Amino acid sequence: AEKMLYNALVLLVVACPCALVISTPITYVCALALSARKGILIKGGSHLETLGRLRAIAIDKTGTLTEGRFRLVHFLVSDPTVFTRESALALVAGAEARSSHPLAAAIVQTALREGLDVPRNVRDFATEGEGISANVDGKQVQIGNRRMADKHGWILPPKAGEEGSLLSAAAEWEAEANTVCWVAIDGKLAAVLGVADKIRDEAADAIKQLRADGVRTVMLTGDNEGTARAVQKQVGLDEIHAKLLPEEKVDFISKLKDECVGAGTVAMVGDGINDAPALSRADVGIAMGAGGTAAAMETADVALMDSSLLKLAQARALGVAVLTKIRQNVALSFATKIAMVIAAAVGYAPLWLAVIADVGSMLVVCINGMSILNEPG
Ligand code: ADP
Ligand code: MG
Repeated sequence: AEKMLYNALVLLVVACPCALVISTPITYVCALALSARKGILIKGGSHLETLGRLRAIAIDKTGTLTEGRFRLVHFLVSDPTVFTRESALALVAGAEARSSHPLAAAIVQTALREGLDVPRNVRDFATEGEGISANVDGKQVQIGNRRMADKHGWILPPKAGEEGSLLSAAAEWEAEANTVCWVAIDGKLAAVLGVADKIRDEAADAIKQLRADGVRTVMLTGDNEGTARAVQKQVGLDEIHAKLLPEEKVDFISKLKDECVGAGTVAMVGDGINDAPALSRADVGIAMGAGGTAAAMETADVALMDSSLLKLAQARALGVAVLTKIRQNVALSFATKIAMVIAAAVGYAPLWLAVIADVGSMLVVCINGMSILNEPG
């Protein structure tokens, strides 16, 4: 009976899963500490595992691949006898003064710098995801991307050559990665404008690293096709999808997730209010910390404090390291337990050995988990 009691005690110690239970949280905590030190804020350890299994990453263009600091560089009116550059730009600036989009500020600043009289009488301001509309000084002013222009039929087939020249100018500006907006006043095309943004210095390197890691890179943008293609050329993304509304970004993330089932996870990187729904739909949402909107930061699971895109590959690498450590720890904890059960079964398992194996394996998994703090990079 004494022998049976002794064996029961041994089994009790063997059955205690200390190492198994402690291995994952300790790895999480150390990895989260390390990532915070690198300026990557992660709202929970499980997101690290998701990052470690990354298969595809969808990236917003404006403010994410680019800095989102615009300058107005082109402004062309369709018929100077109807609206001169000055009168059209003043009306546009009047409407844009109500918008929070980064390109709006650039337009307003230019108008003010040129000493134009920007109308303050603005009513019925509305944003539509692809542009804005407002009643400025009694005139209906609409500004938006190509999709908005096509929806309202502003761009007529080139007959007198005027619209044709605007189209070719717009195509030229887009090829230089500028964002092109079409302007209609009282329902008729009045002007087309081009604002320049700067592609982040590290964008091309960051995308190269991700692709080298076997991650599919996809740009999702509300901007026009030509601009998206120009940025793709400079940055080297696998795919681009342009003229998307916020809800279409969400749909695309769902589609990407379906395609990646079994192969890995999908991340979305963005900065804007319009990216928030897509950030929450992705397996892991990543927000740009510096310059990003509060909505994006709140919705996202990860925030890049200085908005450096190089942190994307770093976060993934850390996720991979976490997965490796956790797998090693689980394997080790099971192996020691199984060895002890076998030893107990064949009759050689003193209580002291069971205790040492239990505490020992716990120490080993702790040290292994903590060693993540020494990960390079
Ligand atoms: P992205 O998805 O690249 O971040 P956005 O969704 O912010 O781009 O914008 C999509 C497009 O909608 C812009 O490229 C622009 O053409 C148009 N747009 C949005 N807001 C405005 C605005 N205030 N004035 C003019 N056009 C705008
Ligand atoms: Mg954006």
